[in-house]
Amino acid sequence: MVLQSIQDLTLWTKRNSASIGFVPTMGCLHEGHLSLIHEAKKQNDEVIVSIFVNPLQFGKNEDLSSYPRPLERDLQLCQNEGVSAVFCPRVSDLYIQGRTTTVDGGDLAKRYCGKTRPEHFTGVLTVVNILLNLVKPTRAYFGEKDFQQLFLIKQMCRDLWLDVDIVAMPTIRENTGLALSSRNTYLNEEQRQSALCLHSAILKTQQAAQSDHRCTAQLRSLASQIIQTTPDVTLDYAHIVDEKTLQPVGDVVTRHARLLLAAFIGDSPRIRLIDNGALL
Ligand code: AMP
Repeated sequence: MVLQSIQDLTLWTKRNSASIGFVPTMGCLHEGHLSLIHEAKKQNDEVIVSIFVNPLQFGKNEDLSSYPRPLERDLQLCQNEGVSAVFCPRVSDLYIQGRTTTVDGGDLAKRYCGKTRPEHFTGVLTVVNILLNLVKPTRAYFGEKDFQQLFLIKQMCRDLWLDVDIVAMPTIRENTGLALSSRNTYLNEEQRQSALCLHSAILKTQQAAQSDHRCTAQLRSLASQIIQTTPDVTLDYAHIVDEKTLQPVGDVVTRHARLLLAAFIGDSPRIRLIDNGALL
């Protein structure tokens, strides 16, 4: 069932007293999204997916207008997966005229991806908050692929006492190691090869950490170097953080250390990809 208006969504949620699993997406669905849907199906009586390319989370010079929107294909995939409902609001359905309130993730929303994309997480948290309020799910599913986003959403739910369980799901990758992303559709064959440097940086840094090279600065520079020396790739950042707090780890990496990466592939347009992995 496809729901577009808030009224249809509200009627749907009111009809469903059973447990509801919610998978928010921006569409152009791939196996990463489907893994969230599969888990939601296992854990809930009903599953609802939202497809909404959220203008609030895109910067002025980013890819809002070119973001892929294969809606018919996405709806078919949802139907094949046995999803109960797909919520596809228009921008004007979700954002009422004169809306001014936003959700600020605080200091951590300004770091890492937030440094390059200063408004991004405010946009993400605001839309996720609105969607959670409307759908009122029992559980909502998010991928570790967007690790900082997942962290900030958990933090928002905790801080604002939102009554929902946030379920984190592991990153799904191609056989090559490339993390699935809707933005991979922008890559040509050569860029696809270059983009593999993100995963190899994670693997090589993991290997080094696991063979007792625990100096944070050296591990960070190993990851940076692998990315910087790949043709057609510009490093945005490489940080090693504690996955429980998202703060940079100290001089020596310990359990819970996670490498967060972002890089631009190509020049015009620059395709920004992110990835991350636990080190120990
Ligand atoms: P998006 O459509 O990119 O906003 O993503 C919607 C949800 O799917 C988010 O919770 C993402 O973290 C998750 N997701 C995206 N790519 C992957 C992936 N490769 N593996 C697992 N989850 C993913």
